[in-house]
Amino acid sequence: MGVISDGGRVLSVFGSTHFMDHESVHFGFDESSGLRSIVAIHSTALGPSLGGTRFYPYISDSDALTDVLRLSRSMSHKAALAGLDQGGGKAVIIGDPRQLASTSLFEKYGDFINGLCGRYITAADVGTTVANMVTVATRTPFVKGLPMEDGGSGDPSPATARGVVAAIKAVAAQCWNTDDLAGRTVAIKGVGKVGYDLAELLTDLGASLIVADVNSAATDRAERELGAAVAAVDSIRTVKCDIFAPCALGGDLNSSSIALLNCEAVVGSANNQLATQRDADRLKNRGILYAPDFLVNAGGIINIAAETGGYTIEKSNGMVDNIYNTLLNILDTADRRDVNPHVAALEVAQQRIDTARKQGDNS
Ligand code: NAD
Repeated sequence: MGVISDGGRVLSVFGSTHFMDHESVHFGFDESSGLRSIVAIHSTALGPSLGGTRFYPYISDSDALTDVLRLSRSMSHKAALAGLDQGGGKAVIIGDPRQLASTSLFEKYGDFINGLCGRYITAADVGTTVANMVTVATRTPFVKGLPMEDGGSGDPSPATARGVVAAIKAVAAQCWNTDDLAGRTVAIKGVGKVGYDLAELLTDLGASLIVADVNSAATDRAERELGAAVAAVDSIRTVKCDIFAPCALGGDLNSSSIALLNCEAVVGSANNQLATQRDADRLKNRGILYAPDFLVNAGGIINIAAETGGYTIEKSNGMVDNIYNTLLNILDTADRRDVNPHVAALEVAQQRIDTARKQGDNS
């Protein structure tokens, strides 16, 4: 529950579950274009907050608020762990983009973002496109991930897939003492933008693939172009494989699905893979190595961060490939402290944010 209300009267904002340590939350409204937006700034301790704009038909404003608070918090952890001088924020626009997206809505949205004076920098996310962000950029400089021809870093998905490969190699080094993926089997759930790029990269590295997607055109393409085996969506989590890579939506790892997994490790791009924090312990207890999603899928924001000082693909690739070292360090910390990798990653990220915050408070 985000906002607790009684008969239209708001009783509590700060008492909500997810509103824990956010710096501020902003509401943007424009009647003529239908814009209803929320920006949550979780932390600017490490730098301006950055996170994409999610355009989604939330069932209620409360659901939208809950989502933006949760997502902005994990953007802080993602940036901190990736070593970026960047804070965490996120925006949501409430509604169905297929019905509501218009030039005037994104112009008004740009005005809303501009009013936050750079404390929040936006980009594309689920439901929004790079083209929408080009419209936003006509009203504010606080937008990143614009097309390469406009000096931006373009679509982040290839960088995200590259980062997942770096994480899979680190996991292979940890589990099998080699990061050679030839002959390994990876089961990918969701062969969309990131999942398909990942499938291509893994094929080049000699891995065998099993894929599943609710969109049969996507699996047909992977079968035809990459020789991937196709599994049913219902069975992809239980197929025998070395690595299960969730690349669709979140929540794939819960008490019942974890009991049925038939892999040695889980490494994928999907956000919020764990249904609850306790599921990271369930995976550990089953001897399955879980690579924290917010570390594995950081390639997209790392690619955007590479815009600072002038974007080049070589610079971005070098920064993204470092996910390999970051993950090995987290796995080492988790082993030494006998905690699961999710907890270790959260603690390392939070420590960096807290240190920066204290330094800021003292200056
Ligand atoms: P996408 O929409 O292009 O691809 C998702 C794919 O999953 C689609 O092909 C869709 O048909 C499929 N899918 C949806 N529900 C499914 C289900 N129940 N079972 C099987 N397949 C299903 O999205 P994307 O950009 O590739 O992102 C994939 C995941 O990675 C998302 O969770 C996203 O939040 C996360 N992520 C993406 C990026 C990025 O750079 N695009 C960065 C960080 C995290």
